[in-house]
Amino acid sequence: MNCRWCGAEMPETAATCPACRQPQKSPAPPRSTDPLDRIVAEAARATRELAEATERVTRKAGREARRAADDPSDAARRAIRRFRSEIEEARRDLDRVLRELE
Ligand SMILES: [Zn+2]
Repeated sequence: MNCRWCGAEMPETAATCPACRQPQKSPAPPRSTDPLDRIVAEAARATRELAEATERVTRKAGREARRAADDPSDAARRAIRRFRSEIEEARRDLDRVLRELE
């Protein structure tokens, strides 16, 4: 399989990537029968996943930005702008969910 962070090839069973040392699994949310606890755990998990996704996109954008230097069509820069608007959209969605919980 490939590292979910840097994309490096790594063994299926590895808990952390040998290349970038990032853990490969998010910690499991605590089990609870209280519906509010579950909602909070769900929101916390969504926040963590958004942070992880942002980190992945940031790494990818960094690679694209280095390529963009020799890219006359400016495609890489356009791609980075698209990443940024998708991150902002995800963040707005999360803000809305959190406000609804308050
Ligand atoms: Zn890695």
